Amino acid sequence: MKSGLIVDVEALADEYAEGHLGRLAILNGVKSTASFLDILSSEHQRCCDVDPTPNPVELLSHASGLNALEYMKLHTLLPFSCFALDEEKRSVDSIWSREIQILRGLHTSRPGGFFCVECVKEDIQFRGFSYWRRSHQLPGKFWCDKHPNSHLLDVDSKDPFARLPQNWINDPATIYHELSLTTRDHPMVIRFNECCQTMLDAGRCLDKRTLRSPLTHNALLAGINVYSSTYSASYPRFSDLLAAIFPTEWLELTYPFIYDKSFGEFLPSIDSSLVGKANAYLSLGTAFALTLVFDSMTTAFQTINAKHAHPKVLRKKLKLDAFNSLVDSFLQKPGFSLETFNQLNICKHHLTRDLTTA
Ligand SMILES: [Zn+2]
Repeated sequence: MKSGLIVDVEALADEYAEGHLGRLAILNGVKSTASFLDILSSEHQRCCDVDPTPNPVELLSHASGLNALEYMKLHTLLPFSCFALDEEKRSVDSIWSREIQILRGLHTSRPGGFFCVECVKEDIQFRGFSYWRRSHQLPGKFWCDKHPNSHLLDVDSKDPFARLPQNWINDPATIYHELSLTTRDHPMVIRFNECCQTMLDAGRCLDKRTLRSPLTHNALLAGINVYSSTYSASYPRFSDLLAAIFPTEWLELTYPFIYDKSFGEFLPSIDSSLVGKANAYLSLGTAFALTLVFDSMTTAFQTINAKHAHPKVLRKKLKLDAFNSLVDSFLQKPGFSLETFNQLNICKHHLTRDLTTA
Protein backbone atom coordinates (compact mmCIF):
# COMPACT_ATOMS: atom_id res chain seq x y z
CA MET A 1 0.00 0.00 0.00
CA LYS A 2 1.51 3.30 -1.04
CA SER A 3 -0.91 5.74 0.57
CA GLY A 4 0.90 6.63 3.76
CA LEU A 5 -2.40 6.43 5.66
CA ILE A 6 -1.88 2.74 6.31
CA VAL A 7 1.00 1.27 8.29
CA ASP A 8 2.32 -1.84 6.50
CA VAL A 9 4.30 -4.67 8.06
CA GLU A 10 5.41 -7.81 6.31
CA ALA A 11 4.33 -11.23 7.51
CA LEU A 12 6.80 -13.11 9.73
CA ALA A 13 7.97 -16.73 9.32
CA ASP A 14 4.92 -19.06 9.33
CA GLU A 15 2.71 -16.12 10.33
CA TYR A 16 -0.94 -16.95 9.67
CA ALA A 17 -2.71 -14.54 7.26
CA GLU A 18 -5.56 -13.70 9.66
CA GLY A 19 -3.02 -13.01 12.40
CA HIS A 20 -1.08 -10.81 10.01
CA LEU A 21 -4.33 -8.97 9.23
CA GLY A 22 -4.96 -8.56 12.96
CA ARG A 23 -1.48 -7.19 13.55
CA LEU A 24 -1.96 -4.65 10.74
CA ALA A 25 -5.34 -3.67 12.24
CA ILE A 26 -3.74 -3.14 15.68
CA LEU A 27 -0.91 -1.04 14.22
CA ASN A 28 -3.50 1.09 12.41
CA GLY A 29 -5.67 1.46 15.51
CA VAL A 30 -8.61 -0.63 14.22
CA LYS A 31 -10.36 -3.06 16.57
CA SER A 32 -11.73 -5.73 14.23
CA THR A 33 -10.02 -7.62 11.41
CA ALA A 34 -13.14 -7.37 9.17
CA SER A 35 -13.31 -3.57 9.53
CA PHE A 36 -9.64 -3.24 8.77
CA LEU A 37 -10.04 -5.39 5.66
CA ASP A 38 -12.75 -2.99 4.43
CA ILE A 39 -10.47 -0.02 5.06
CA LEU A 40 -7.61 -1.76 3.26
CA SER A 41 -9.86 -2.46 0.28
CA SER A 42 -11.28 1.05 -0.09
CA GLU A 43 -7.85 2.57 0.44
CA HIS A 44 -6.49 0.38 -2.32
CA GLN A 45 -9.31 1.39 -4.68
CA ARG A 46 -8.70 5.06 -3.90
CA CYS A 47 -4.99 4.98 -4.63
CA CYS A 48 -4.55 2.23 -7.23
CA ASP A 49 -7.82 1.92 -9.14
CA VAL A 50 -7.22 -1.59 -10.50
CA ASP A 51 -9.85 -3.93 -11.78
CA PRO A 52 -10.88 -6.36 -10.37
CA THR A 53 -10.48 -5.07 -6.83
CA PRO A 54 -7.83 -7.21 -5.11
CA ASN A 55 -9.15 -10.02 -2.91
CA PRO A 56 -8.21 -10.15 0.82
CA VAL A 57 -5.21 -12.39 0.20
CA GLU A 58 -3.93 -10.05 -2.51
CA LEU A 59 -4.38 -7.02 -0.24
CA LEU A 60 -2.37 -8.74 2.49
CA SER A 61 0.30 -9.85 0.05
CA HIS A 62 0.77 -6.20 -0.99
CA ALA A 63 1.26 -5.25 2.64
CA SER A 64 3.87 -7.98 2.88
CA GLY A 65 5.71 -7.07 -0.31
CA LEU A 66 5.14 -10.59 -1.70
CA ASN A 67 3.26 -11.64 -4.79
CA ALA A 68 -0.14 -13.15 -4.04
CA LEU A 69 0.92 -16.70 -4.90
CA GLU A 70 3.92 -16.66 -2.55
CA TYR A 71 1.73 -15.19 0.17
CA MET A 72 -0.91 -17.92 -0.28
CA LYS A 73 1.75 -20.63 -0.15
CA LEU A 74 3.49 -19.27 2.93
CA HIS A 75 0.77 -17.63 5.02
CA THR A 76 -2.69 -19.04 4.28
CA LEU A 77 -4.12 -22.48 5.05
CA LEU A 78 -5.16 -22.94 1.40
CA PRO A 79 -2.42 -25.54 0.73
CA PHE A 80 -4.07 -27.69 3.41
CA SER A 81 -7.76 -26.76 3.20
CA CYS A 82 -7.83 -26.87 -0.63
CA PHE A 83 -5.19 -29.56 -1.08
CA ALA A 84 -7.01 -31.28 -3.97
CA LEU A 85 -9.65 -29.64 -6.14
CA ASP A 86 -11.72 -30.24 -9.24
CA GLU A 87 -10.05 -29.03 -12.40
CA GLU A 88 -12.32 -25.97 -12.70
CA LYS A 89 -11.36 -24.75 -9.23
CA ARG A 90 -7.67 -24.66 -10.13
CA SER A 91 -5.98 -22.22 -12.47
CA VAL A 92 -3.63 -23.38 -15.25
CA ASP A 93 -0.56 -23.51 -13.03
CA SER A 94 -2.17 -25.72 -10.37
CA ILE A 95 -3.02 -22.80 -8.16
CA TRP A 96 -6.34 -22.08 -6.48
CA SER A 97 -8.80 -20.26 -8.70
CA ARG A 98 -9.77 -16.68 -7.92
CA GLU A 99 -13.15 -17.88 -6.64
CA ILE A 100 -11.43 -20.22 -4.17
CA GLN A 101 -9.01 -17.48 -3.10
CA ILE A 102 -11.94 -15.20 -2.27
CA LEU A 103 -14.06 -17.87 -0.60
CA ARG A 104 -11.37 -19.70 1.32
CA GLY A 105 -8.25 -17.53 1.32
CA LEU A 106 -8.68 -16.27 4.86
CA HIS A 107 -10.43 -19.29 6.31
CA THR A 108 -8.95 -21.20 9.18
CA SER A 109 -9.18 -24.99 9.24
CA ARG A 110 -10.83 -25.23 12.69
CA PRO A 111 -12.80 -22.89 14.95
CA GLY A 112 -10.90 -20.62 17.35
CA GLY A 113 -7.30 -19.49 17.30
CA PHE A 114 -4.44 -21.62 18.67
CA PHE A 115 -1.11 -20.53 20.11
CA CYS A 116 1.82 -21.83 22.18
CA VAL A 117 2.74 -20.00 25.39
CA GLU A 118 6.43 -20.91 25.00
CA CYS A 119 6.46 -19.40 21.48
CA VAL A 120 4.81 -16.27 22.94
CA LYS A 121 7.55 -16.00 25.60
CA GLU A 122 10.30 -16.38 22.99
CA ASP A 123 8.62 -13.91 20.62
CA ILE A 124 8.36 -11.28 23.35
CA GLN A 125 11.96 -11.84 24.32
CA PHE A 126 13.24 -11.50 20.74
CA ARG A 127 10.74 -9.10 19.12
CA GLY A 128 8.80 -7.50 21.91
CA PHE A 129 5.49 -8.95 20.66
CA SER A 130 4.00 -12.34 19.75
CA TYR A 131 2.29 -13.49 16.56
CA TRP A 132 -0.03 -16.26 15.29
CA ARG A 133 1.59 -19.31 13.65
CA ARG A 134 -0.13 -20.94 10.71
CA SER A 135 1.00 -24.47 11.62
CA HIS A 136 -0.72 -24.15 15.03
CA GLN A 137 -4.09 -23.72 13.29
CA LEU A 138 -4.00 -27.15 11.60
CA PRO A 139 -6.72 -29.59 12.71
CA GLY A 140 -5.71 -32.16 15.31
CA LYS A 141 -2.73 -30.10 16.44
CA PHE A 142 -2.60 -29.60 20.21
CA TRP A 143 1.14 -29.42 20.89
CA CYS A 144 3.85 -27.16 19.48
CA ASP A 145 6.47 -28.82 17.25
CA LYS A 146 9.17 -26.54 18.61
CA HIS A 147 8.09 -27.01 22.24
CA PRO A 148 6.70 -30.59 22.42
CA ASN A 149 5.75 -30.17 26.09
CA SER A 150 3.78 -27.03 25.45
CA HIS A 151 0.08 -27.65 25.04
CA LEU A 152 -1.50 -25.18 22.55
CA LEU A 153 -4.11 -22.83 24.02
CA ASP A 154 -7.37 -22.29 22.14
CA VAL A 155 -9.06 -18.88 21.98
CA ASP A 156 -12.83 -19.34 21.80
CA SER A 157 -13.71 -16.00 20.20
CA LYS A 158 -15.28 -14.83 16.93
CA ASP A 159 -12.23 -12.73 16.16
CA PRO A 160 -9.25 -14.27 17.99
CA PHE A 161 -6.77 -12.77 15.53
CA ALA A 162 -7.80 -9.18 16.32
CA ARG A 163 -5.49 -9.42 19.35
CA LEU A 164 -1.94 -10.72 19.65
CA PRO A 165 -1.60 -14.17 21.30
CA GLN A 166 0.06 -12.59 24.38
CA ASN A 167 -3.14 -10.63 25.06
CA TRP A 168 -5.22 -13.79 25.29
CA ILE A 169 -3.15 -15.71 27.85
CA ASN A 170 -5.18 -14.75 30.92
CA ASP A 171 -8.49 -14.14 29.14
CA PRO A 172 -11.53 -16.26 30.15
CA ALA A 173 -12.12 -17.07 26.45
CA THR A 174 -8.84 -18.96 26.35
CA ILE A 175 -9.25 -22.71 26.78
CA TYR A 176 -6.83 -25.40 27.85
CA HIS A 177 -8.05 -28.71 26.43
CA GLU A 178 -7.27 -31.58 28.78
CA LEU A 179 -5.35 -34.20 26.79
CA SER A 180 -3.08 -36.92 28.13
CA LEU A 181 0.55 -37.41 27.15
CA THR A 182 -0.44 -40.86 25.84
CA THR A 183 -2.51 -39.04 23.22
CA ARG A 184 0.34 -36.67 22.37
CA ASP A 185 2.63 -39.67 21.81
CA HIS A 186 0.05 -41.83 20.01
CA PRO A 187 1.72 -42.94 16.73
CA MET A 188 -1.38 -42.30 14.63
CA VAL A 189 -1.84 -38.80 16.09
CA ILE A 190 1.81 -38.06 15.31
CA ARG A 191 1.38 -39.38 11.77
CA PHE A 192 -1.82 -37.39 11.25
CA ASN A 193 -0.09 -34.18 12.39
CA GLU A 194 2.85 -34.94 10.13
CA CYS A 195 0.47 -35.56 7.25
CA CYS A 196 -1.37 -32.23 7.67
CA GLN A 197 1.93 -30.34 7.93
CA THR A 198 3.24 -32.03 4.77
CA MET A 199 0.05 -31.10 2.90
CA LEU A 200 0.52 -27.50 4.06
CA ASP A 201 4.19 -27.43 3.09
CA ALA A 202 3.40 -28.70 -0.41
CA GLY A 203 2.13 -25.17 -1.16
CA ARG A 204 -0.03 -25.97 -4.16
CA CYS A 205 -3.14 -27.90 -5.05
CA LEU A 206 -3.45 -31.24 -6.78
CA ASP A 207 -6.06 -32.37 -9.24
CA LYS A 208 -8.61 -34.28 -7.18
CA ARG A 209 -8.56 -37.24 -9.58
CA THR A 210 -4.77 -37.57 -9.27
CA LEU A 211 -5.18 -38.00 -5.54
CA ARG A 212 -8.38 -40.04 -5.41
CA SER A 213 -7.34 -42.93 -7.61
CA PRO A 214 -4.25 -44.18 -5.65
CA LEU A 215 -5.95 -43.36 -2.36
CA THR A 216 -8.99 -45.50 -3.13
CA HIS A 217 -6.88 -48.25 -4.66
CA ASN A 218 -4.58 -48.55 -1.65
CA ALA A 219 -7.49 -48.40 0.74
CA LEU A 220 -9.16 -51.30 -1.03
CA LEU A 221 -5.93 -53.29 -1.03
CA ALA A 222 -5.60 -52.66 2.70
CA GLY A 223 -9.12 -53.98 3.18
CA ILE A 224 -10.56 -50.61 4.19
CA ASN A 225 -14.19 -50.42 3.21
CA VAL A 226 -14.86 -47.68 0.69
CA TYR A 227 -18.28 -48.93 -0.20
CA SER A 228 -20.49 -46.09 -1.42
CA SER A 229 -23.29 -44.40 0.42
CA THR A 230 -25.71 -47.30 0.99
CA TYR A 231 -26.55 -47.31 4.67
CA SER A 232 -25.87 -50.59 6.39
CA ALA A 233 -25.49 -51.07 10.11
CA SER A 234 -23.84 -54.45 9.56
CA TYR A 235 -20.67 -53.25 7.87
CA PRO A 236 -18.10 -50.92 9.37
CA ARG A 237 -17.06 -47.81 7.47
CA PHE A 238 -13.76 -45.97 7.14
CA SER A 239 -15.09 -43.53 9.76
CA ASP A 240 -15.66 -46.46 12.17
CA LEU A 241 -12.09 -47.50 11.65
CA LEU A 242 -10.89 -44.01 12.59
CA ALA A 243 -13.06 -44.05 15.70
CA ALA A 244 -11.50 -47.36 16.71
CA ILE A 245 -7.90 -46.37 16.06
CA PHE A 246 -7.52 -42.75 17.19
CA PRO A 247 -7.65 -41.79 20.88
CA THR A 248 -11.20 -40.75 21.82
CA GLU A 249 -10.22 -37.57 23.70
CA TRP A 250 -8.30 -36.36 20.65
CA LEU A 251 -10.96 -37.29 18.07
CA GLU A 252 -13.66 -35.61 20.17
CA LEU A 253 -11.79 -32.33 19.79
CA THR A 254 -10.60 -32.87 16.23
CA TYR A 255 -13.78 -34.21 14.64
CA PRO A 256 -16.59 -34.86 17.15
CA PHE A 257 -19.16 -35.62 14.41
CA ILE A 258 -17.60 -39.04 14.13
CA TYR A 259 -19.36 -39.92 17.39
CA ASP A 260 -22.73 -38.58 16.26
CA LYS A 261 -23.24 -41.39 13.80
CA SER A 262 -24.01 -45.02 14.40
CA PHE A 263 -21.69 -47.91 13.61
CA GLY A 264 -21.88 -48.73 9.89
CA GLU A 265 -23.42 -45.39 8.99
CA PHE A 266 -21.83 -43.56 6.07
CA LEU A 267 -20.35 -40.23 7.23
CA PRO A 268 -20.03 -38.22 3.98
CA SER A 269 -17.45 -35.73 5.27
CA ILE A 270 -15.03 -38.57 6.08
CA ASP A 271 -16.12 -41.66 4.18
CA SER A 272 -16.45 -39.91 0.85
CA SER A 273 -12.74 -39.06 0.94
CA LEU A 274 -12.26 -42.59 -0.43
CA VAL A 275 -15.11 -42.49 -2.94
CA GLY A 276 -14.74 -41.00 -6.42
CA LYS A 277 -17.12 -38.05 -6.24
CA ALA A 278 -15.87 -36.59 -3.00
CA ASN A 279 -16.47 -32.96 -2.16
CA ALA A 280 -13.47 -30.83 -2.97
CA TYR A 281 -13.17 -29.33 0.49
CA LEU A 282 -12.82 -32.55 2.47
CA SER A 283 -9.21 -32.03 3.42
CA LEU A 284 -9.71 -33.51 6.87
CA GLY A 285 -11.01 -36.76 5.37
CA THR A 286 -8.13 -36.73 2.88
CA ALA A 287 -5.63 -36.27 5.70
CA PHE A 288 -7.14 -39.22 7.59
CA ALA A 289 -7.08 -41.35 4.45
CA LEU A 290 -3.45 -40.49 3.64
CA THR A 291 -2.48 -41.24 7.24
CA LEU A 292 -4.08 -44.68 7.22
CA VAL A 293 -3.59 -45.83 3.66
CA PHE A 294 0.13 -45.12 3.26
CA ASP A 295 3.04 -46.07 5.52
CA SER A 296 4.67 -42.68 5.13
CA MET A 297 4.10 -39.39 3.39
CA THR A 298 7.05 -40.20 1.10
CA THR A 299 5.25 -43.31 -0.16
CA ALA A 300 2.01 -41.39 -0.38
CA PHE A 301 3.37 -38.67 -2.64
CA GLN A 302 5.49 -41.01 -4.71
CA THR A 303 2.37 -43.05 -5.43
CA ILE A 304 0.19 -40.02 -6.11
CA ASN A 305 2.70 -38.44 -8.46
CA ALA A 306 3.50 -41.65 -10.32
CA LYS A 307 0.01 -41.35 -11.87
CA HIS A 308 -0.09 -45.06 -12.66
CA ALA A 309 -3.30 -46.59 -13.87
CA HIS A 310 -4.51 -48.76 -11.02
CA PRO A 311 -5.89 -52.21 -11.67
CA LYS A 312 -9.46 -52.54 -10.56
CA VAL A 313 -9.87 -53.96 -7.09
CA LEU A 314 -13.23 -55.43 -6.27
CA ARG A 315 -15.15 -53.53 -3.63
CA LYS A 316 -16.14 -55.78 -0.81
CA LYS A 317 -18.10 -55.01 2.27
CA LEU A 318 -15.87 -55.21 5.29
CA LYS A 319 -16.99 -57.87 7.73
CA LEU A 320 -16.73 -57.35 11.46
CA ASP A 321 -13.95 -59.90 12.12
CA ALA A 322 -11.85 -58.43 9.30
CA PHE A 323 -12.54 -54.98 10.74
CA ASN A 324 -11.27 -56.03 14.17
CA SER A 325 -8.05 -57.45 12.79
CA LEU A 326 -7.61 -54.29 10.71
CA VAL A 327 -7.92 -52.18 13.87
CA ASP A 328 -5.34 -54.42 15.61
CA SER A 329 -2.97 -54.16 12.69
CA PHE A 330 -3.12 -50.36 12.78
CA LEU A 331 -2.57 -50.23 16.51
CA GLN A 332 0.49 -52.51 16.29
CA LYS A 333 1.80 -51.65 12.87
CA PRO A 334 5.60 -52.05 12.96
CA GLY A 335 5.98 -49.47 10.17
CA PHE A 336 4.92 -46.70 12.54
CA SER A 337 8.34 -46.32 14.09
CA LEU A 338 10.42 -43.34 15.09
CA GLU A 339 12.57 -44.08 12.07
CA THR A 340 9.62 -43.38 9.79
CA PHE A 341 8.92 -40.11 11.54
CA ASN A 342 12.55 -39.08 11.34
CA GLN A 343 12.35 -39.31 7.56
CA LEU A 344 10.30 -36.15 7.54
CA ASN A 345 13.09 -34.07 5.98
CA ILE A 346 13.47 -36.61 3.19
CA CYS A 347 9.71 -36.53 2.73
CA LYS A 348 9.73 -32.80 2.27
CA HIS A 349 12.54 -33.05 -0.26
CA HIS A 350 10.69 -35.72 -2.22
CA LEU A 351 7.48 -33.83 -1.96
CA THR A 352 8.89 -30.59 -3.35
CA ARG A 353 10.61 -32.40 -6.17
CA ASP A 354 7.67 -34.63 -7.00
CA LEU A 355 5.19 -31.82 -7.00
CA THR A 356 7.45 -29.62 -9.10
CA THR A 357 7.70 -32.28 -11.78
CA ALA A 358 4.09 -33.42 -11.47
ZN1 LIG B 1 5.97 -23.26 20.79
